Amino acid sequence: MTGTDTSPPRASGRPLRDLDWPALRGELAKNGVGERVARRVFARVHRDWARSLDDFQALPAKLRRTLSPACGLPELAIVERRRAADGFVKYLFRLHDGAEIEAVRIPLPDPADARALKERRRHGEARGLVALPTAKYTLCISSQVGCALGCAFCATGRLGFARNLATWEMLAQVHAVVREADRPVRGVLFLGMGEPLLNYDNVMATARILSHPAGLAISADNISISTAGVLPGIRRLAAERPRFRLMISLVAPTRQMRLPLMPIERRWPLRDLAAAVRAYAAASRSRVTLAYVGISGLNVNRQAARDLARLFAEVRVKVNLIDVNDATGRYMPPTDAEVSEFRDELSAHHIPVVRRYAGGRDICAACGTLAATRQGGVVLGG
Ligand code: SF4
Repeated sequence: MTGTDTSPPRASGRPLRDLDWPALRGELAKNGVGERVARRVFARVHRDWARSLDDFQALPAKLRRTLSPACGLPELAIVERRRAADGFVKYLFRLHDGAEIEAVRIPLPDPADARALKERRRHGEARGLVALPTAKYTLCISSQVGCALGCAFCATGRLGFARNLATWEMLAQVHAVVREADRPVRGVLFLGMGEPLLNYDNVMATARILSHPAGLAISADNISISTAGVLPGIRRLAAERPRFRLMISLVAPTRQMRLPLMPIERRWPLRDLAAAVRAYAAASRSRVTLAYVGISGLNVNRQAARDLARLFAEVRVKVNLIDVNDATGRYMPPTDAEVSEFRDELSAHHIPVVRRYAGGRDICAACGTLAATRQGGVVLGG
């Protein structure tokens, strides 16, 4: 696909690109296609991102004609790619209805290089940000156009909600980036525009296709689904127990602090969220990641750490501390002193905490800044 590819979806029925393995297999079985051939069709549709099955001789010609309407294999238009000074690249896509969404390509080093750097830091041999060579990418993709949850610090929330993305629209973001990436894409985060668990079925189908061996074969361990705290979705995940990682976007460890920042508190309160996370952690036997958005003078201090530890007592959680990115300047990132105090207190409660680098700030690609804007960085060619 190039930057000028604006072909709209042509499907009159449900595009095959919307179907995960059980759905596609079932659809083909109705037409007498066995599992072996169905798997090859799945690979053509999802791994090869084929535009047509016309030349797929393993299917009878009559069936190829029958499938044609469902084979409208749509693309997204890449409006723009923008590279930040730190190597993050933001993609702006236009959908067939004119709506715009964003995805972010995040460069990652080789884990061995990252471990070596950590050791050097531990021994005082390295300080500050050290750029390591890029070995692979992970992608942050959008799951909705806009978002209904209206978090106070988030640019997407200020757009309001327009609609859910279809499965193929989420897959198309990944394929567009994979196709032109100079390194392999090894992970996907559902952490871009929108609340993934309010688009549960399509998000889960997308994740299943991404991780399927005949799809994009991305390890399920490297697929994270974030939520601001949509309890029915978390309970459903606990019941269905997919292998993907759950990430809770948390900003406040108390109701009083959360209410003005995250309106979701009125519908699904913090105490119920903590209970749902507890049940999920027990069912999945996994550690839940809390993506904690740090705001100076508010939620990164000793008391907040104590409140957090109390809220998630006896639950296996880890905290990823992410600096707030608020283009309005109302909320500022925590100072190093605040972070140290917060980290020390969490460590005293045996809660692991990692300060995550929030990259791509100069192109509005960092967490909380996705709003289909076009500014900063270097615009890359098509
Ligand atoms: S932080 Fe997430 S849930 Fe909150 S408004 Fe932004 S996109 Fe929606």
